[in-house]
Amino acid sequence: AKRGATGFAWYSEAQEAARLGHLSLVSDLRTAVAGSQLQMWLQPKFALPGGQAVGAEALVRWQHPQRGFVSPAEFIPFAEQTGYISMVTQWMLQEALRTLAQWARTQPALSISVNISTRDLLDPQFCERLQNLLAQHQVDPSCLRLEIVESGLMEDPQTSVDVLHCLRGMGLELSIDDFGTGYSSMAYLQKLPVSELKIDRSFVDGLDHQSGSQRLVKTMIELGHGMGLMVTAEGVETEAEKATLIALGCDVMQGYLGSRPLHGAALQAWFDGLPEPVVAA
Ligand code: C2E
Ligand code: MG
Ligand code: MG
Ligand code: MG
Repeated sequence: AKRGATGFAWYSEAQEAARLGHLSLVSDLRTAVAGSQLQMWLQPKFALPGGQAVGAEALVRWQHPQRGFVSPAEFIPFAEQTGYISMVTQWMLQEALRTLAQWARTQPALSISVNISTRDLLDPQFCERLQNLLAQHQVDPSCLRLEIVESGLMEDPQTSVDVLHCLRGMGLELSIDDFGTGYSSMAYLQKLPVSELKIDRSFVDGLDHQSGSQRLVKTMIELGHGMGLMVTAEGVETEAEKATLIALGCDVMQGYLGSRPLHGAALQAWFDGLPEPVVAA
């Protein structure tokens, strides 16, 4: 808060309303996780150039009884500050594993990616809790991917590496999310047991008509491939962006062009429409 000449902290009415609004949001979040106000939506990911479905990213949605839809961009930072994020993550992991157990019967190759916050990564109990969930749901651990935001890793680089190795040791797949927006060094990235690099959508936007961003994305794809990683582009919205990504050798695309995040009947319809997987003789 700003301080007036008298030294008292003062807030504008709008600031005060925002502050109170956020406080009640935080206490509502406890109810949301305990009750049934959270939803897991899934956004499909597609192989390039062929377009086969390879899996989906799990995105949390909050249907607040009074406020209506609250965007994760709004409440995830609060959940992180207050520590409620571990409840949100646990709930999402549970939903993802339950869905994977259903999918395994007909589409065993599909994976689900869950977003993990830095705070989860630095929680000493995180690995063990996840191990218990895996045992409970009897899912092939390689079908579960965890997305870690690049910038978050640098808060505690050494602990992050250790935890990622523990998770990898459990058979999970790991991804670097929002790649290009953090400041990790090549030497550090090389130490991470990850198998996917997701190029942030800010680099994909306008890819078709800006040669500058094309050069940048080309470099990121080469970097990823040089480290033996699968490269996914986020936020693909146009055929022109897709064509450029194919020309640059990108492996997977995710974005509104392929599909919006899906839930309920729309998700089921997408799943039912998938071709039968080829079974080896
Ligand atoms: P993210 O992990 O980078 O997720 C991708 C975001 O881009 C999602 O927004 C998705 O709906 C949006 N998106 C996908 N395709 C397109 C597109 O073609 N164009 C545009 N403009 N946007 C697209 P969403 O669901 O609002 O999530 C925002 C961020 O909130 C996520 O970014 C992630 O960092 C965080 N988040 C979402 N769910 C969770 C969660 O369960 N746990 C944690 N820790 N974070 C989450
Ligand atoms: Mg993500
Ligand atoms: Mg991202
Ligand atoms: Mg665009």
